[in-house]
Amino acid sequence: MVKHKTRIIFYGGVNEIGGNKILLQDRDTKVFFDFGMSFTLKKQFYSPPFLSPRSERSLQELGVLPKIRGIYKFDEKVPEVDAVFISHAHMDHSAYLSFINRKIQVYCGETTQIILHAQSEMRRADLEFNVSGISFKSFRTGKKIVVDNLEVEPIHVDHSVPGAYGFVVHTSNGAVVYTGDFRVHGAKPEMTQDLVEKAKKADPVAVVTEATNMTGASISSEEEVENKLDHIVKQADGIVLADFAYTDVDRLNSFYRIAKKNGRCLAVSLKQAYLMSALQSDKGLSIPNLNDKSVLIFRKSKKKYEKWENQIIEKYSNKIVDVFEASKRQCKTVLAMSFYDLEELVEIKPEAGSCYILSASEPFNEEMEIDFEKLTNWLRHYGLPQYHAHVSGHIMPLQLKAILKEVNATTIFPIHTENAELFTRFMRDLKSQTVLVEKSRGYTI
Ligand SMILES: [Zn+2]
Ligand SMILES: [Zn+2]
Repeated sequence: MVKHKTRIIFYGGVNEIGGNKILLQDRDTKVFFDFGMSFTLKKQFYSPPFLSPRSERSLQELGVLPKIRGIYKFDEKVPEVDAVFISHAHMDHSAYLSFINRKIQVYCGETTQIILHAQSEMRRADLEFNVSGISFKSFRTGKKIVVDNLEVEPIHVDHSVPGAYGFVVHTSNGAVVYTGDFRVHGAKPEMTQDLVEKAKKADPVAVVTEATNMTGASISSEEEVENKLDHIVKQADGIVLADFAYTDVDRLNSFYRIAKKNGRCLAVSLKQAYLMSALQSDKGLSIPNLNDKSVLIFRKSKKKYEKWENQIIEKYSNKIVDVFEASKRQCKTVLAMSFYDLEELVEIKPEAGSCYILSASEPFNEEMEIDFEKLTNWLRHYGLPQYHAHVSGHIMPLQLKAILKEVNATTIFPIHTENAELFTRFMRDLKSQTVLVEKSRGYTI
C-alpha cells in the first residue's frame, strides 16, 4: 500500500517569539494553524505610526508576510488552502487573518471569535488587523472538526488570554499535536492537563510546541501575583495605577478582586470595557460585570471619541469617570492605565502615597527600553514608586520537559522561541527526537 505523504511547513514562529503560521498538508488537504503577525520581522523595517506598511505588497516585498500561493485575498487565484485554525486571539497568532481569502473557512474558539471581532471593531482602518468578511466557525473543547483528510480536535489550554487552544490533528500518518501558547501556572492549569491527556492518548508522531521561556524562567503563579497585588494595594494611601494587558482576563479578575477586597473600585479603560461588554455573552467565562459597583470606566481626555467608545459611554453613562473624578477619589481607586495614558497624570495629580504597578512583562528589547525610560521619568516626576507583579503566559522549561516526556511523540518541533538550540540540548535525553526548524522548509512526517 502506498503511504500518503503528510508534510509540515513553518512559515513563521521560527527563531522568533510569535508570528506562527504552520501549514499541515495531508495528500491534497492543506490546513494552516495560526496566521499571526511577526513583530520581530516587522520592527526590522517599520516604526509606527509614521513608518507603517501601506499595503500587503510592501509586507510581501520585505518578507514580513510570506509568499504563499492560494491563500491571500489580494491574490486572484482560487484558494488552495482548505482551512485556517486559530489557537488564540493574540496578534502574533491571529492578526494576519486580515490578508486571508474570505472564501477560506477560519476555525477558532468561541471566545477567540468574540475577542477578534471586538478588536477589529476598535481598529477599523488597520491594514494588518481586520477580520471583516471572514467566515468564522467556532468550536469548544470536545468538538471534532473534519477537513477532508484531517480530523482536528481542539482542546482548551491555560494562557494569558481566555479561549486559548491546543490541537490534536489526526493525519493519515498519525497524530500531530500543536500546543499553541500554553502554561500550567495560570488560573486554570487543569485545562492544559486536558490537552496533555488527549495528546498522550493519541500516541503522536509529532508535537509542535512553544518554547518561549528557555531563558529568564521563573517560579510563580497567577495566584502569587494576586497575593502580591493585595500586599501593594493594602498599603497604598493614594491612587494605585495598574498597567496590564486588557485581553488578560485572569489578571483583570485578580485586580478586580483585590480592588474590591481593599474597598476600592477598579477603573478600566474604554477599550477594556468594550471587550468586557462583548465577553458578557460568553457563558464559559467569568469576568467582572460592568454594572458591578466596584467597577468604573475611565474615559481619557480627548476631543473626539470613536463610535465604539461612544457606545460604551452611552451604555454605561453612570459608570464613566474622567481625570477630574479620578483625581478626587484617589484612595478609592485602582486605575488601569497603559504607557499611552501617562499624559492623564497631569490632571489626576497623584497624591503622596500613590504607586504604579507594572503587571506586564519587563522590557525585553531596545524600543521597549526607550519607552521604559520615559515611563520611569513620568513616575519620578510624580513621586510614584514602581512595583512589578507579573507572571508569564508561557510554560516554564522543566514543566515543558515533563509534559513532552509524558506525551512521548516521535518528533518534537520547537517554535515560538529564540532559543531552539538551547531547547534541543535541554531535551536531548528524551526519547523524542527534536528537530531544529528551518523556515519555509517542508518536513515529512
Ligand atoms: Zn504567542
Ligand atoms: Zn499568546
